[in-house]
Amino acid sequence: MAFTTKYIFVTGGVLSSLGKGLASAAIGALLESRGLSVTLQKLDPYINVDPGTMNPFQHGEVFVTDDGAETDLDLGHYERFTNAQLGRDNNFTTGKIYNAVITKERRGDYLGGTVQVIPHITDEIKQSIRLVSKDVDIVIVEIGGTIGDIESLPFLEAIRQFRADAGKDNVLYIHLTLVPYIGTAGELKTKPTQHSVKELRSIGIQPDILLCRTDRYLSRDIKKKIALFCNVGENAVITAKDVDCIYEVPLIFHKEGLDDRIVELLHVWTRAPRLDAWERFVEQYKNPLRDVTIGIVGKYVDLTESYKSLNEALYHGGTANDCRVQLKFIDSETLDPDTCSGIFTEVDGILVPGGFGSRGIEGKICAARYARENAVPYFGICLGMQIAVIEFARHVAGLEDANSAEFNEMTPHPVIYLMLEWYDEKTDTVQKRDANSAKGATMRLGAYPCRIKPDSLAHRAYREEDISERHRHRYEFNNAYREKLEEKGLIISGESPNGELVEITELPDHPWFLGCQFHPEFKSRPRKPHPLFAAFVQASLKNRNKKG
Ligand code: GLN
Repeated sequence: MAFTTKYIFVTGGVLSSLGKGLASAAIGALLESRGLSVTLQKLDPYINVDPGTMNPFQHGEVFVTDDGAETDLDLGHYERFTNAQLGRDNNFTTGKIYNAVITKERRGDYLGGTVQVIPHITDEIKQSIRLVSKDVDIVIVEIGGTIGDIESLPFLEAIRQFRADAGKDNVLYIHLTLVPYIGTAGELKTKPTQHSVKELRSIGIQPDILLCRTDRYLSRDIKKKIALFCNVGENAVITAKDVDCIYEVPLIFHKEGLDDRIVELLHVWTRAPRLDAWERFVEQYKNPLRDVTIGIVGKYVDLTESYKSLNEALYHGGTANDCRVQLKFIDSETLDPDTCSGIFTEVDGILVPGGFGSRGIEGKICAARYARENAVPYFGICLGMQIAVIEFARHVAGLEDANSAEFNEMTPHPVIYLMLEWYDEKTDTVQKRDANSAKGATMRLGAYPCRIKPDSLAHRAYREEDISERHRHRYEFNNAYREKLEEKGLIISGESPNGELVEITELPDHPWFLGCQFHPEFKSRPRKPHPLFAAFVQASLKNRNKKG
């Protein structure tokens, strides 16, 4: 008998930042652990067509998928927690939905009809949900924003209609709310949850399960009270307790009976969950043998959400080495040759992550120089690789004022530049761009193949010669300088299979100094730490031990 795809819609109430993305990801992990196949989708109420043009200060990291979509950072959680392969159809925004509808309207597809939010926008939303439902048992759809926001109404209306379309037993609504502990009263308060559910019911959605974010386990009495006021089963009131380690969330949900409730309400029969891999990871994560400190030299230091995948990849690399990674965020604007030694004596490894724009660039170059000259492990990611190349060109190859054309168009030595034309092996086309290209979705985006040089640091980490990693950048290594820099010792240890694009650079006579043009952090998983992060943390640990 063909299996009917089932849908779980996750909404959030009371306030933002309750961890709806993580909760959705954890639900995915739990269902997978019972042998079901899942996919996840995020529907975002904002009008940007994708988050690619948004400032990470405001919105956090832009997560890049294999197919080159620039997506919401929650997709990062989904990929880290599950085996789902996500792409551009797994993230829709209001802008993307309206864009599609308006394009159809201009084409005349609506045959003279009046185009309206209901049914045209809601139909488009429902169609987008169905796009990802092929070949999976369960589709988990997270609705961005908080119940009560004006912007999310069309999405909520669409998911309300969805139950009638897909059948009552095939759709489940899960609502995440807050149950705060009020110190002065000495008790947990259920009123915000009651109000939020009331709001949800006023637009026609009765939640089936409530995830209650709180700092302590909910007592039987509290659950009873919430169940009564919110019209859900008592066993469908789940404690979503604060955790030290995000990978514990599936375990807590399971203890609270969440996966049992889901399969029961959706009428799916599955095997018992196998959570031992999660348990092992959490155990290792929480009780490591040693510590290591990594200095992250960046611009968005005030908002660590901007580096979500990066931080997680470092933690995974830590667990792979049985150590806890302490992150020290260093504002690159505070760095100059005099401050470096003071700041970096406290770190065991230096990482320069991706970034855009010229602010703080000279500080990052100082950091790379310090790492090179003092044998401190250095990991440069995307912009971080470009920085390492500029630093090497200036101070080792003697190319005075070498720079990236992004930061100084007039530099005498544009070692990093805008490649106006390049052959794209993926699409078998010649790609063109110039300084006036539009900003949205015009970078080298998504997965590209890379060939690794034998016996390099990269090769020792990957233990493979052909890899694929995700990109998000406009500028490239300038091949006009390749020979000169190689002559001076720069090692090009990864390049596109046709040799046109430089992907990885290294330094000889250094414990661990590597820059990559791609973003390896997007592919690190708790249960499969990324080899470059594991190798970098290992080198940093060695450096720590050497310091004593
Ligand atoms: N700004 C650089 C470029 O566009 C690096 C981008 C990045 O680090 N993601 O090439």
